[in-house]
Amino acid sequence: MFETFMPLFKNRDELDAHRLKGLKWTVNHAYNGSAFYRKRLDEAGLRPGDIASMEDIRRLPLTTAEDLRSGYPFPLLSIPESEVVRIHASSGTTGKKKVLTYSQKDIDDWAFMFARCYEMGGVTRRDRVQIAVGYGIWTAGVGFQLGCERLGAMSIPVGPGNIDMQCQFLEDLKSTVICCTASMGLLMAEEVCRRNLKDKIALKRMIFGSERSGDAMRRRIKDLLGLEDMFDITGMTELYGPGTGLDCARHEGIHYWADYYILEILDPETLEPVSDGQVGEMVVTTLCKEAAPLIRYRTRDLTRKIDHPCSCGSLLPLHDRILGRSDDMIIFRGVNIYPGQIDQILSETPEIGSEYQVVLSRGKEGKDHMLLRVETQPDVPPSSRNGIKKAIAEKVKKTILVSSTVEIVEYGTLPRSERKSKRIFDERPQ
Ligand SMILES: [Zn+2]
Repeated sequence: MFETFMPLFKNRDELDAHRLKGLKWTVNHAYNGSAFYRKRLDEAGLRPGDIASMEDIRRLPLTTAEDLRSGYPFPLLSIPESEVVRIHASSGTTGKKKVLTYSQKDIDDWAFMFARCYEMGGVTRRDRVQIAVGYGIWTAGVGFQLGCERLGAMSIPVGPGNIDMQCQFLEDLKSTVICCTASMGLLMAEEVCRRNLKDKIALKRMIFGSERSGDAMRRRIKDLLGLEDMFDITGMTELYGPGTGLDCARHEGIHYWADYYILEILDPETLEPVSDGQVGEMVVTTLCKEAAPLIRYRTRDLTRKIDHPCSCGSLLPLHDRILGRSDDMIIFRGVNIYPGQIDQILSETPEIGSEYQVVLSRGKEGKDHMLLRVETQPDVPPSSRNGIKKAIAEKVKKTILVSSTVEIVEYGTLPRSERKSKRIFDERPQ
């Protein structure tokens, strides 16, 4: 029998009622189970019973990554430790890692959400899913695996890198889906072509995690491999892991699982809600997470809500792609710029490849300069380069309101990586 992982609410009202119930449950659960949350709520003069409507969420205090670190090793723990069945940790850049705890129900909910991602991405029980992301203490590999098994497809847990084995399994096991970072997707696509394997594999879909994929990169991968479709999975360790949202086949935005968490978009400076459709920081509140519930957790990820429903007809609302991190926001000549904006501009230029670098430097006179180093597509004649440079600089000026110098380099000369590629080089003295 076909099992669906989509929400079964008949309309928006039913979904909203479920969300309010979840919000009340979470505040009550966290208050009674966690000394940290109890202290925070007491300081804010709030009792669980004060939450009567969705608007009351704005009265709740925000939680940050710093709160997770200071509660190390088991921050936000809201159930007895004996009920914790697993932990995961996220790769903090400095100091202690963020460790998150899971109850069995949390694991089951995560598997369900991830199976929903696969279902929305058109993956079925007949598919063979090659999982080429990291396994271990991180949530990536285990999450992709859990969802794949919950869906009932065949999982092939290869892990990241290891291009020879990836290619061999694509050829021998006829994997139909590969899950990887977008950078690795491009690397695989180029490798498959270089080894003349394109006609010997059965790959139809790619699912990208942990790194947003630009349109140019997606186009390039799709052309190289003749794929049917590609999807971006969203998620972070604090919020279960990857698998909490996906762009559907219409690609009008990313559906997020509003029956499992509330998404607010706040101005990272003022912490007030942004006006409709504006870019801001994603702040999430979970609705049924037991071991480490999140109350208004600042994710640092930047995006915007898309207010109209998706043409696929799903009740699940949309947000835009992740446009960067509020920590990655570059302040350049007094203008706030996030990498996703540059990505979008370059994606709109068909003569440009998917790799680019942004180099920020300071001249002798103390003035900041932005250099955009971009690759051409392989078939673009050198005579057209000046025109392309001018077009990109004009688009940057018009969209982000800053002047830039554009340098064009040969296709394939910028570094590729199996993991996240570094693209912003800020060489200005701090
Ligand atoms: Zn949709």
